[in-house]
Amino acid sequence: MPRYELDHMAELNKIVKGQLVENEPMALHSSYGVGGPAKAYITPKNVNDLSRILQYAHSHGIKTFFVGSGSNILVSDTGIDGLVISPAKALTDLSINDGKINAESGVMLGRLVRESIKRNLTGFEGLGGVPGTLGGAIMMNAGAFGHEISNSLVSVTVMQMDGTINTLLKNDITFLYRYSSIDSKSFIVSALFDLEKSDFINIQNKRKKASEIRKSSQPLKYRSAGSVFKNPKPNVAAGYLIDQAGLKGLRQGDAEISEKHANFFINHGKATATDISTLIQIARKEVKEKFNIMLELEIKTFGFDENELLPNG
Ligand SMILES: Cc1cc2nc3c(=O)[nH]c(=O)nc-3n(C[C@H](O)[C@H](O)[C@H](O)COP(=O)(O)OP(=O)(O)OC[C@H]3O[C@@H](n4cnc5c(N)ncnc54)[C@H](O)[C@@H]3O)c2cc1C
Repeated sequence: MPRYELDHMAELNKIVKGQLVENEPMALHSSYGVGGPAKAYITPKNVNDLSRILQYAHSHGIKTFFVGSGSNILVSDTGIDGLVISPAKALTDLSINDGKINAESGVMLGRLVRESIKRNLTGFEGLGGVPGTLGGAIMMNAGAFGHEISNSLVSVTVMQMDGTINTLLKNDITFLYRYSSIDSKSFIVSALFDLEKSDFINIQNKRKKASEIRKSSQPLKYRSAGSVFKNPKPNVAAGYLIDQAGLKGLRQGDAEISEKHANFFINHGKATATDISTLIQIARKEVKEKFNIMLELEIKTFGFDENELLPNG
């Protein structure tokens, strides 16, 4: 390793009050269970720690990437040449006053769903069963069964690489299907929501129904990152197109296009990121040839060349 990198690590080790692990396999931080090492994986202790780390990385030109709990990412086998910072298991404060919910980005979505339902608050119940942190959910505008995380959002607080914090109101951000306009250099620190009260039984029933549909339609006993591709149109499911292209059950190494849900690519245990990226290329190629549609990735990729995941990349 070049000397300047060692210098950075020594300095970072002094700066970081939370956890810093050098050469950390991203397979340990991705629901696929694949991915090579990040130069360092950092969990800041608190917002001040985060600020110092971002400023150091920024002023020394160190590449920096943010993840939540890795349930919608694919990291290449060569890994990430930079720092990876996650709020998971660290920035986990949550306060609820009437319908106002203030949560830090490392709060798990499941906790948010449970805590809101306990208080008869409606808005999050459809998201029960969506894995991940609040930060990841906002970045992805996670949604299911008619609910999107942005629906009841009031504001998002972000930190820039120079350590400055600003609060964006919902109207400052564009939220679309699995998309938010928050730029990838902004670290989501926390968010404020305003939920309405509703009938407890009603909310519970909606959550139960969502969970039953999820269990019956998704291959939940295998590792995956949920849907690989966005649906090209509201009434055209990517999974349907992949299925119609005859690709259900297609295997590459230990990765497979799920028989149960063709937009879920699953890891049977020893899959590599290359196995999964090969299936992505094949699915894109076959769907393009058959339907003239180029599927757009929903998952976020790290450590791949721009064209590597395209049909002939
Ligand atoms: C079995 C399964 C089912 C799923 N079902 C659904 C579903 O029904 N609906 C749905 O929408 N998704 C679904 N997903 C995908 C995934 O759960 C969501 O996208 C989730 O919101 C990702 O959260 P995360 O914390 O894991 O984010 P990650 O996967 O770690 O990151 C996702 C993106 O957010 C960015 N990011 C994460 N945290 C921050 C932060 N603090 N600041 C700035 N950027 C950040 C990352 O850079 C990346 O671009 C499913 C996944 C699985 C494995």
